[in-house]
Amino acid sequence: MAPITKAFDYIVIGGGSGGSGAARRAAGWYGAKTLIIENGRSGGTCVNVGCVPKKMTWYFASVNETIKGAHNYFYDIPANVKFHFDQFKKRRDASIARLNGAYENNWNREGIELVHGTATFTGPKEIEVELQDGSGKVAFTAPHICIATGGYPIIPENVEGATHGITSDGFFDIEELPKKIAIVGAGYIAVEMAGMLNAIGVEVHMFIRGDTFLRTFDPMIQETMTKAYEDAGVILHKGHKGFKKVERLDNNPTSASHGTTHEKRSDGPSPEKLLKITGNDDEVFEFNELLWAIGRAPEIKDLRLDRIGIDLTKSGHIATDEYQNTNVEGIYALGDVTGNVELTPVAIAAGRQLGNRLFGPPELKSSKLEYNHIPTVVFSHPEVGTIGLTEPQAINQYGKENIKIYKTKFTAMYFDVFSPEEKTKHPTQYKIICAGPQEKVVGLHILGEGSGEMLQGFGVAIKMGATKADFDRCVAIHPTSAEELVTMR
Ligand code: FAD
Ligand code: NDP
Repeated sequence: MAPITKAFDYIVIGGGSGGSGAARRAAGWYGAKTLIIENGRSGGTCVNVGCVPKKMTWYFASVNETIKGAHNYFYDIPANVKFHFDQFKKRRDASIARLNGAYENNWNREGIELVHGTATFTGPKEIEVELQDGSGKVAFTAPHICIATGGYPIIPENVEGATHGITSDGFFDIEELPKKIAIVGAGYIAVEMAGMLNAIGVEVHMFIRGDTFLRTFDPMIQETMTKAYEDAGVILHKGHKGFKKVERLDNNPTSASHGTTHEKRSDGPSPEKLLKITGNDDEVFEFNELLWAIGRAPEIKDLRLDRIGIDLTKSGHIATDEYQNTNVEGIYALGDVTGNVELTPVAIAAGRQLGNRLFGPPELKSSKLEYNHIPTVVFSHPEVGTIGLTEPQAINQYGKENIKIYKTKFTAMYFDVFSPEEKTKHPTQYKIICAGPQEKVVGLHILGEGSGEMLQGFGVAIKMGATKADFDRCVAIHPTSAEELVTMR
């Protein structure tokens, strides 16, 4: 082991959403002597291969959707409007590089030290770091160590040649759009990426195990969104039995330009790519790209948690209590590595609460993040927003006789000028789930244009314990889609 170079109050492993939130609260607010160890690009998944480049690409796709619909507003748009995805990608990369710098500047301003390298536990309070510049190893110690190492996208191990596909990491390396892509998965990433690629003219095939995607969401969302994607031209292979073999037919089988946060785990995208994919039912497909979007696994491999006896959950994530404590005193974990609501604001909020608890004033000594009523949005086409219980969960929790459901579906005014046939392809649907005689709102599910921006305010109300009567007491804003949420009968 390298000799201890420096002692800190707080070591944070991982400079992503959670690590940054944790370190900044501890150092910036309470003056704790803090070190961040990061072995990729500062900002982590969200900034580099997640929320940020995703949302920018979603905007890129939305522009094309607007152009395609503009004739309904009597704009003469040429049939073949050209776009330059490669140039957009360069601009997007530049924005992200600026954000990487902004993260590091913030840390620097708040007195947080940053070491670029891979952290490994050598003892419960000791971390060894293999420096990224190749200059060797250094070691640090601190009474408090926070693990915020995130996760990485899963590539199935039981599919021969699976690494010829890409994951969400590789999606952000695409410069030239593939003509035809296979997307395997049915969660946030599969749905968001299928929606974006379809909206910019890629032939998208989704391979899903069930009849609908987003199966953890309310049935209204699953059913309506699956149909909306089919109506928009996404080809769905429902009840799919999975793939057994992936072969590259082009003569560039190892091409890769995979410069992302995590180590290279698969081929990068390539304009020449041609894949032969054989299903478990022996059906054979040819695609120019294959995207695995079947979930993420915790990034713990380099940490050597076995050396200090940290408990893991059944899914292999780091087990914590509600205060982010692991089973080892002085070691905490938060964010995706714990597998508990894998969202950026959740990781940040958990980090801040932990900072309050460890380094804040006495009245904050029991700070912790509440993991209930967390609003979340899928940036699909259209967007989906959800908070609280789904209808089956509410029935399960309160009993069918104790819940009341309010539902509406309509066409948003933007689509009024579209043809009747086109209108049906653009659904807006809302559902409010209420419980008990007070009709407390315990679930809200919305899909349609603008849902992403709409949900935050309703999230505040629901977190405060709003009832249906509270919703109704708020005067509507007209003309909007959101007004339907305060006028439902
Ligand atoms: P990360 O952000 O992954 O940070 C972990 C960091 O630890 C990484 O930078 C990694 O390099 C570093 N690291 C790992 N091991 C070590 C080690 N041994 N030593 C040193 N450093 C190490 N969430 C949303 O809320 N909204 C969205 O729209 C959204 N979109 C997403 C889109 C995609 C494609 C993906 C993949 C995710 C998306 N998410 C979104 C989820 C969100 O990105 C994550 O929940 C969030 O980044 C988790 O933060 P974290 O700090 O736990 O981990
Ligand atoms: P998810 O866990 O959301 O979804 C993966 C889905 O893929 C599963 O639900 C499952 O659906 C399906 N699946 C799993 N294994 C297989 C398999 N072997 N073959 C085929 N399908 C399979 O993971 P994602 O990778 O989409 O995203 C990871 C997390 O990142 C999300 O859960 C979310 O927390 C976060 N994220 C958030 C975003 C946002 O806030 N907008 C955007 C992107 C990611 P089924 O059971 O129906 O087959």
